[in-house]
Amino acid sequence: MSNPFRALPSITQLLEQPTLVGKRDRHPPEAITAAARAEVEALRTALAAGSSPNLDLAAIAERIAARLDLDALPTLRTVINATGIVLHTNLGRSPLHEEAARAAFEAGRAYCNLELDLATGKRSSRQDAVRAGIRAITGAESATAVNNCAAATVIVLRSLAAQREVIVSRGQLIEIGGSFRIPDIMAVSGAILREVGTTNITRLADYENAIGPNTAAIMRVHTSNYRVRGFTKSVDLPELVELGRKHNLAVIDDAGSGQAVDLAPFGLPGEPLVSTGVAAGADLVLFSGDKLLGGPQAGIIAGKAAHIAKIERDPLMRAFRLDKMTLAALEATLRLYRDPAKALRELPTLRMLTTPLEELQRRSEAFAERLRTLPEVMVELRADVAYVGGGSLPDVAVPTVVLAITVAGLSEADLAMKLRTGTPSVVGRVQDGKLLLDLRAVFPRQEDELLEAIQRAARRLDPTASEIALPL
Ligand SMILES: *Cc1c(COP(=O)(O)O)cnc(C)c1O
Repeated sequence: MSNPFRALPSITQLLEQPTLVGKRDRHPPEAITAAARAEVEALRTALAAGSSPNLDLAAIAERIAARLDLDALPTLRTVINATGIVLHTNLGRSPLHEEAARAAFEAGRAYCNLELDLATGKRSSRQDAVRAGIRAITGAESATAVNNCAAATVIVLRSLAAQREVIVSRGQLIEIGGSFRIPDIMAVSGAILREVGTTNITRLADYENAIGPNTAAIMRVHTSNYRVRGFTKSVDLPELVELGRKHNLAVIDDAGSGQAVDLAPFGLPGEPLVSTGVAAGADLVLFSGDKLLGGPQAGIIAGKAAHIAKIERDPLMRAFRLDKMTLAALEATLRLYRDPAKALRELPTLRMLTTPLEELQRRSEAFAERLRTLPEVMVELRADVAYVGGGSLPDVAVPTVVLAITVAGLSEADLAMKLRTGTPSVVGRVQDGKLLLDLRAVFPRQEDELLEAIQRAARRLDPTASEIALPL
């Protein structure tokens, strides 16, 4: 038997193939050679495993070309979110408002007065960019912002309660996805967790009995991603504030989702408004920038000026501080809240969450009509429910409409994979043998691209590693 590896072409032979010659204007020679080596290596492995890959020169060159195109794509790219989950942590939570995205872009591509007071020419604080906007939505005396709410919790606990006790109800020892666990965060901060009550019942007396000479603060944590139901009792913030005042303790409110306009009238009840904690008298209120606020990833700290000043002097602030692009995006997002109706109408997160069902139904019907022009695609509309995601409103099932799609000759898992790995990438939900696409979190401007992506995925009935990678 002859040596099967003899049939493999040389790299030089491959590089002379017209397909790859045609790539020379867009890819450096090193990249073309590296892709050719990688493909030949893959073929060698396939041969060694006993399979008989297509060794036709032109076919190999095509696969090398596909590798090159895939390499040219950034790892982080746009995804069309057809999951219906508006705050999808794996898909980057809140998309930014155009003005916020543009502010980040402008801050990034030039210099800006990040820490320079233009009037005096003196050094200023980068936090000035967002302080006023946070004060406006929370009603707090002062405010600052760090990288995310996890960082906010760490720096607040460290600055107010290092080596001292912080009382937390056992019903609020939450874990938010991505290893944010209150006990662990507390340990990292150097504060000592003093758990009180039980999972379902915590009374004011439980807090009061735990107060001792080493107590520094009481913390309330919003149970963002779950609810305790049935025989339950927890202590409201105003009562904790009263207790804190009596014993001269700081009261910290980890509010989580950062709701700045009331979404309850839109069928989304249950998240605390960021102004409620401040109004109730909490010393500090913490929340995320990229959940219901609809801004960039950030951890916002609003409250008493003296506490904020102390936090900003903490050396950890240097490690947790926001960069200029995020600050610019956050400032622009906060500015939109000057007109709450405009924020509701224009902030993508809020607009998507409050889209009326009838509007979604109309959009979905129109899109289904367009899909029906594709011969391979079968589509039906279904009523379904979706969740807000991102650790917000865990028990609110938002009624929605989905397009249930099947493609002849293609499994739903294959269809989902082709859409995920296409350009642009599309992520939906696979359920009951169908691919479900929800338009709630799809921007209307993305609908044409979505249609084309489905068309491409449906047409290519013979998936190979290189084909799925071919860009438009
Ligand atoms: C989401 C959440 C956090 C973590 O916020 P990140 O911005 O993701 O770090 C902390 N606490 C609560 C109550 C939350 O809901």
